[in-house]
Amino acid sequence: MIKNRRSPLVYYPKTVNELLQLYKSMPDSLLFAGGTEILYGRREKYPVLPNNIILLSRIEELAAIKRSEGYLEIGACAKLNKILGIGEHVLKPALYQAIKSIATCEVRNLATLGGNICSSYRKKTLFPLLTLLDTRLELRKHGGSRWINLKKYMIESEGLQPGEVLTRIRIPFNNFNNQAFVITGDLKSDYHNAMTFAFIASVQKEVLSDIRFSIGFSNNSIFRVRDFEDALSGRKLPIFGLTEDPVYNRLTTALKSNDIEISPFRRQQIEGMFLSFLHQLNDTL
Ligand SMILES: Cc1cc2nc3c(=O)[nH]c(=O)nc-3n(C[C@H](O)[C@H](O)[C@H](O)COP(=O)(O)OP(=O)(O)OC[C@H]3O[C@@H](n4cnc5c(N)ncnc54)[C@H](O)[C@@H]3O)c2cc1C
Repeated sequence: MIKNRRSPLVYYPKTVNELLQLYKSMPDSLLFAGGTEILYGRREKYPVLPNNIILLSRIEELAAIKRSEGYLEIGACAKLNKILGIGEHVLKPALYQAIKSIATCEVRNLATLGGNICSSYRKKTLFPLLTLLDTRLELRKHGGSRWINLKKYMIESEGLQPGEVLTRIRIPFNNFNNQAFVITGDLKSDYHNAMTFAFIASVQKEVLSDIRFSIGFSNNSIFRVRDFEDALSGRKLPIFGLTEDPVYNRLTTALKSNDIEISPFRRQQIEGMFLSFLHQLNDTL
């Protein structure tokens, strides 16, 4: 024990029910998954932590990864490297790249997907892509559970409520046969000013049957223009001269009128990234 401070008490539930009961009786306790976010940047020899810590790492069912016909189901405490171990052919290129872009291999050995989703200030790496993929989350508390779409979860009043724990993440399998994931910006300074681009598209018999893209900013906001995506879906490829097409205004207008201010340089960068993905689609023919 450090002078004048009691050491935290650490609890090790072995089942989800035990966890929910414990959390109900000690709502101020800290849920500790991989701890990489919790301990990130702490330089003290003895980091100050809440009095009660509930460790999630011994709950086997929270670490399980299952494949069903329609979706991949990942336990909240599955480590990022274990998820990568499923392979790119199952995860598909964008998700594989997105997870692999997080921190270092050593950190990913500890870090969990649930911890990433529940972290209060790290939404830019996986969220843009996971929302495009219609990811759903299971939130449980003592005596109740609910499934919620990740997009809705991001609304504060809808997200994790007191006493709730994220238990499972469902990512539907998809037919997006063209995917890209790119991070730009200063990756050394904690991704300050970084932007995350996620693109997914389905091309069937020279028709762009579905296209979705979103961008994550360092302040955690996510940019997406649904009516622009809708206007492009169903078009025949190749698509040339899109910048001259009235539909393109939907993108440029949204970039200017977005809630967050996007600098002219970034607007150009975003348009450039989008057009280069479109060229990739044209090249698949
Ligand atoms: C060097 C370094 C680089 C990093 N780079 C990135 C990056 O590029 N992108 C990125 O997104 N992250 C990054 N991170 C942050 C972090 O590693 C990841 O977000 C990681 O996935 C967090 O998982 P964890 O299990 O360690 O979470 P923890 O640190 O254990 O928990 C994070 C938060 O989530 C809560 N929590 C955890 N699990 C649950 C649950 N099941 N239900 C409810 N609440 C829960 C915890 O109470 C805590 O508040 C980096 C970290 C380090 C150390």
